[in-house]
Amino acid sequence: MYRSRENTLPLKSSFFKLPESLLLVFEQDWGLGMISESWSTTLGYPHSELQRWKFLDLLHPDDRAACAEKLATLSPENPTLRFTTRCGRQDGSYLGAVWNVNFDPDEKVYYACAHETAINLDGSNAQLPDMFVDGLTGLPNRSLFLDRLEHTQRRSERRKDLQFAVLYCGIDRFKVINNSLGHRMGDLLLMSVASVVRSIIRPTDMAARVAGDEFALLLEDIRDVSATLLVVKRIQEKLVLPFELDGHQVFTSVSFGIVVGGTTPQTADEMVRDANMAMVRAKAQGGGSYVVFIQEMHDRAVRRLELELDLRQALERGEFEAYYQPIVSLTDRRLAGFEALVRWRHPVKGLISPVEFIPVAEETGMIVPIGRWVLREACRQARAWQGQRPDAPPLTVSVNLSARQLLHSELLADVVSALADSGLPPTLLKLEITESVMMENADDAIALLKRLKKMQIRLLLDDFGTGYSSLSYLHRLPIDTLKVDRSFIMNMHKNENARHFVETIVHLAHKLGLDVICEGVELAVQADILNAMGAEYCQGFLYSRPVAAHEAEMLILTGFDLPHEAAPSTGQ
Ligand code: C2E
Ligand code: MG
Ligand code: MG
Repeated sequence: MYRSRENTLPLKSSFFKLPESLLLVFEQDWGLGMISESWSTTLGYPHSELQRWKFLDLLHPDDRAACAEKLATLSPENPTLRFTTRCGRQDGSYLGAVWNVNFDPDEKVYYACAHETAINLDGSNAQLPDMFVDGLTGLPNRSLFLDRLEHTQRRSERRKDLQFAVLYCGIDRFKVINNSLGHRMGDLLLMSVASVVRSIIRPTDMAARVAGDEFALLLEDIRDVSATLLVVKRIQEKLVLPFELDGHQVFTSVSFGIVVGGTTPQTADEMVRDANMAMVRAKAQGGGSYVVFIQEMHDRAVRRLELELDLRQALERGEFEAYYQPIVSLTDRRLAGFEALVRWRHPVKGLISPVEFIPVAEETGMIVPIGRWVLREACRQARAWQGQRPDAPPLTVSVNLSARQLLHSELLADVVSALADSGLPPTLLKLEITESVMMENADDAIALLKRLKKMQIRLLLDDFGTGYSSLSYLHRLPIDTLKVDRSFIMNMHKNENARHFVETIVHLAHKLGLDVICEGVELAVQADILNAMGAEYCQGFLYSRPVAAHEAEMLILTGFDLPHEAAPSTGQ
């Protein structure tokens, strides 16, 4: 994601620490009125000689014109400047330095100090790395930050009592601001946040811009994590008021990920990565907060990455299996059909639940080929069962579709070919969609559902009641069936409210001309209540867990062996 330092720096260059107190005070025309002694040792010229020089004499001849131009922009109203230049040494070599020029209002003079990390450049033609300092905010960039962090880590190895921390700070919803108000406003916001961050931390700490809308802070010599929280609090307090940017008021908030250093041996890169990971967590919690990194987060991210890599191979290796769970008619306990539920038989980890891998498959887009496989397999299987018992009432098969699949351009073609290749009549295929799918892209989704419906495929709204159920669009959806979520069925027999809720959904569905499948029926008493309410179908462990195809075949042949008779239907 980021350019590594090796790519950004000239080959034989190396960072080094400048002595502290490298200070210059300017006189008229950028003459060196006062220059600290340490410059003499750093550059190799006698101090008395340097005092007679102008600032530009210190620089590489090619850097002088640009530098003079920058200095000319300074004024008491615009009193600070940051830039990088090459400075010549007496032995003919060069060093690259980051300069910080400021105005002292009391003494009415400009002064400059060099950032304490500089770089040795090999030969007079050596170029300064362009990514030494961030051009927009004037903050050090990622390379410089990592370098300073490495120094700090080495120092803390010798001084165990000194702790340090990395704070990774990201602007919440920056993309929205950038896209809606324009890139110029985005830039202004970045500069404003940078200046807030800079104003809060101690002069000895470092703030850097490490990626587009992300900053990293290095806090040194802290006692414990509470010191970092204080910085977080101060920055967040400053952001409570909006920024005035070009006549617009822009509200923003930032999220922080925090890693306290020195507890486990790790590289600077790893420490920044962990802080970043914690920040992503903080953003996921809604922004404007912080998360302190814990090792468990890293372990989880590694597991997730392994899962993603394994998932990519699983399809080629044929590791997916379709399981089937019966859908039962409540009135006569007849088997009406099955819901196909995918399982992953991992060669090492065994059978993995879709709850674990479907979200990863959705995020990575793998759900499209996996879903296609399930669809084809379920159609093939349902057609095979039909062929085995041509005289029995045909069984339906329901297949789950996730949002990504529904909005994928090839879905319609996939459905057509799954039906054509298997020979399954479209009336026996049901597609289950969830409310979240509908909310994301309602118009496109509705158009597609209508086309599926025209093909005589039946459509089910899954997990009803758990999403942002909007009754206003329910009647716009060309669906046939509501599937009431398990969470409502679970408590129905002991909680009157839950029972009323289910009853209301059943009535609503019937008023809209839909039938109802109740999920997660585990007890006979639940089936009895649902039957009394007039719900048509149910599905749950009471009848069977999802089972492999050959076990489902046994259920087709033998029916259900229930411990307890469901009460006869009372109808509604
Ligand atoms: P879902 O579509 O709502 O499927 C019902 C889930 O409830 C299944 O979990 C099923 O095993 C479980 N269940 C059914 N009856 C009971 C019961 O009586 N008690 C309890 N405790 N649970 C019951 P499963 O198989 O783990 O699937 C979880 C979810 O994963 C599914 O929820 C569905 O959203 C998704 N999923 C499964 N297969 C696929 C697939 O092929 N494609 C897509 N896109 N999603 C799938
Ligand atoms: Mg389902
Ligand atoms: Mg469901």
